[in-house]
Amino acid sequence: MTTGNAALAKFFHSVSNVSMLLTDRCNLRCSYCFIDCTPANDSTMPLETAKQIAHLLIENSGYPQVALHLYGGEPLLMDDSWIADFVAYARALGEKHGKEVIFPLSTNGTLLDEERLVRLHEMGIGFSLSCDGPPALHNACRERGEQLHELLQSAKKRGIPVGVVVTINRHNAGRMGEVMEYLREQGVAGMISNFVVAQGRGDAEQLSAEQMFTSTVDEIGHMLKSGMSVDDMRVGRMAYQYLAATGNRNGSQPQWNRSCDSAADKIGIDGEGNIFVCGGTRNKEYLLGRLDEIDEKHVQRLRDNFPKKGTWYIRCFDCAANRFCTHGCPISCDLSESFRDNHCRFTKLMWNYFNEQPDTARRVHEMTMQKMQQQMKPHPTGNAGERCCREAGAKGGDQGGTA
Ligand code: SF4
Ligand code: SF4
Repeated sequence: MTTGNAALAKFFHSVSNVSMLLTDRCNLRCSYCFIDCTPANDSTMPLETAKQIAHLLIENSGYPQVALHLYGGEPLLMDDSWIADFVAYARALGEKHGKEVIFPLSTNGTLLDEERLVRLHEMGIGFSLSCDGPPALHNACRERGEQLHELLQSAKKRGIPVGVVVTINRHNAGRMGEVMEYLREQGVAGMISNFVVAQGRGDAEQLSAEQMFTSTVDEIGHMLKSGMSVDDMRVGRMAYQYLAATGNRNGSQPQWNRSCDSAADKIGIDGEGNIFVCGGTRNKEYLLGRLDEIDEKHVQRLRDNFPKKGTWYIRCFDCAANRFCTHGCPISCDLSESFRDNHCRFTKLMWNYFNEQPDTARRVHEMTMQKMQQQMKPHPTGNAGERCCREAGAKGGDQGGTA
């Protein structure tokens, strides 16, 4: 076992983004929450632990910009004084070490009124709000959509940019055009969508391949028709992957290892100092180490074998879509046969769809790039490099996810 500062310093050198699991408590009880959060949970990250994480990341990361992603549960159950202390501490450390530090925060938005929104925004917090559509649709799996609607209005009025994470679930899967139109009306320019994942309460709410396909095609329709008024990072990425897979077939590789940055430059840490492969799991099988104990060999083994490749992967070797496939959330793929089968079928449906109309992939990609260039701004979630939507500070998270 390798312990101590040297091992931790080495480990953090390759990390750029820490999802800080500030609490596993939530004021809501969404039907698909993949962390199984409830108001009865009670873990809270001590401020000293948060400062230790900031210290390890900022002092040791090899990246010029690092993200301390405030995540949960519902991170806004923490007091503003806790958040203010932490942000001031980390920012001062960043200045000392010449690092830019960003503070994305994933929230359900129900503990934010306009005053708190402005206060936290002025502190430098970047917001990622979970919103599944207009209030009635949002409330199908979540709660308090009307309150969220008011918050989106406040953000628009105050000119505070917010990113939105949409969890595609059984209720909004056939209505994604409507969801995007609602977000457009609220002045939201960018979103990340995630399918419900097969963890926590989400396991019982998995989507079929057809639901995933229909919702994605709906989104493409809205993006093209509205001149990309609201773009979905997940869909833009799929279009790009299709073009990469078909444009230079000899040069491109199967996408297996690229579906997710978890266990690489992105990790999750809870209040007890457990270091997970990402913020989206509390499963000890995905434990990289602890803040007081890290075993380099174990980390390397887990990293080398993440995502885990079961015998089912044999079917992928000769699959025509294997340069396009991202296999969905790797942990859910590992834990649930139905999840990986549905994602496999969804991928093949999308592969055929783009094969029949490659121009659509080109247009989505070009428009996405144009929009990014026009805006020349980081992704609204404050997490430009984040690929797992679930935690996208976005996030991705929140994929069927937290907050
Ligand atoms: S579409 Fe299915 S068979 Fe093809 S690479 Fe993906 S998971 Fe494997
Ligand atoms: S999905 Fe988010 S808002 Fe819903 S119960 Fe889980 S942590 Fe709370």
